[in-house]
Amino acid sequence: MADDALRMIDEEQGTGDARRAGLRRQLLAGETTIWSRPTGPRRAFSSAAINPGAVAAARDRAVRFRPALAALFRQAGWNGAIASDLVAYPDVGGARILVKADHDLPVTGSIKARGGVYELLCRIEEIGLREGLLPADDYAVLTEPAAAERFARYTVSVASTGNLGFSIGLVARAFGLHARVHMSADAKAWKKERLIKLGAVVVEHPCDFNQAVDLARVEALRDGHIFIDDTSSAELLLGYSLAADEVLAQLEEAGVAPSLAQPLVVYLPCGVGGAPGGVTYGLRQRLGEALVTVFVEPVASACMMTALAFGNGAPMPVYALGLSNDTVADGLAVATASPLVLEAVGDDIDHIMALPDSAMLEWVRLAWRARGFRLEPSAAAALAAIEPLLAARPALAGAVHVAWTTGGSMQPDEEFLPLVETGVERATRAYRRTATS
Ligand SMILES: *Cc1c(COP(=O)(O)O)cnc(C)c1O
Repeated sequence: MADDALRMIDEEQGTGDARRAGLRRQLLAGETTIWSRPTGPRRAFSSAAINPGAVAAARDRAVRFRPALAALFRQAGWNGAIASDLVAYPDVGGARILVKADHDLPVTGSIKARGGVYELLCRIEEIGLREGLLPADDYAVLTEPAAAERFARYTVSVASTGNLGFSIGLVARAFGLHARVHMSADAKAWKKERLIKLGAVVVEHPCDFNQAVDLARVEALRDGHIFIDDTSSAELLLGYSLAADEVLAQLEEAGVAPSLAQPLVVYLPCGVGGAPGGVTYGLRQRLGEALVTVFVEPVASACMMTALAFGNGAPMPVYALGLSNDTVADGLAVATASPLVLEAVGDDIDHIMALPDSAMLEWVRLAWRARGFRLEPSAAAALAAIEPLLAARPALAGAVHVAWTTGGSMQPDEEFLPLVETGVERATRAYRRTATS
């Protein structure tokens, strides 16, 4: 009896190890690779910082800041709400597809406008209160010259592969704060140039994102700067989670009511995990098991898959598997996933899809031709994951699929047009050239 039990455990171990070895082989070969969560009840999560009450407070704060954002980033008819459209997309493999068009978000043109910018607004609100700028509930006063003078005494610091730094730098400078943006080797030249024009200081690091975060954090602590930490911030996660109510209201308007029989399948491009993690947290609260989440990563930077499939749910650098973290998807070029995200929603990730760069570049072109979307490769990952998921899980063909296109509308023509006007191989070369120029 005891011997039998022992043998069964051995066999399970054996299969688990064999599965992991197969997964690793596939990743190292650069192939499209899927990992799926073992079935079973989900681990409950609650914390003092991340809970439904905190989400409600975050929503109120975002609303309070609308007049200030509308005043600083004048766009015709814009009321200062950080929100995007939910739009129809041609069927993929017979499945109904909707696109959550965060590539077109106001202010920054990427999903960072939801989370990264939200955390910066938390810090700005604190300064406003401390400096006596906010006697009333009228946040438009924060955009007046007297406020900018006070904000100029503060420096905000952030580390990024490009979009977070771009977004934080842009908004910090608009309010009058100094900005120090630490860019990893992945960052595109145009994002750095635009920040420098806005008066931000761009510090270039020849290393990867996680190392840039460590260097920036130490410097910010030493110099008394405000540090926006993408790898451990609950506020950032809350900012992203606000997207859940927004998309659910849009789905309701479109006549979509997710259920166990017809779940909502959401494709979320994943870097360190904050953006997809926050959206997942918000949606799981509302939908429970009527939600299927698919995190999408570049195969070379599959840090979430590495943590969940190989690291027992704890962060583990992709280098440990022999992966390079070298990808055209600069928004997702992250070697180690966020420990906070793994703790908060690690057990809410149903599938992880790792994709080769060629698939993302192909879908940049397809989405341009089909709908005129200006996507960056990181954002196109969401669309690129649909076909492989349906191939692996044909039962989901009847579900409603939402591809979250996370960035790209602000790419200049010189950056974007080579991606869509040439073949995938030439596009890859063009993209790499702009990365290092
Ligand atoms: C940052 C980013 C993501 C992923 O966000 P993480 O919080 O790093 O997981 C996805 N797409 C784009 C375009 C991004 O800029």
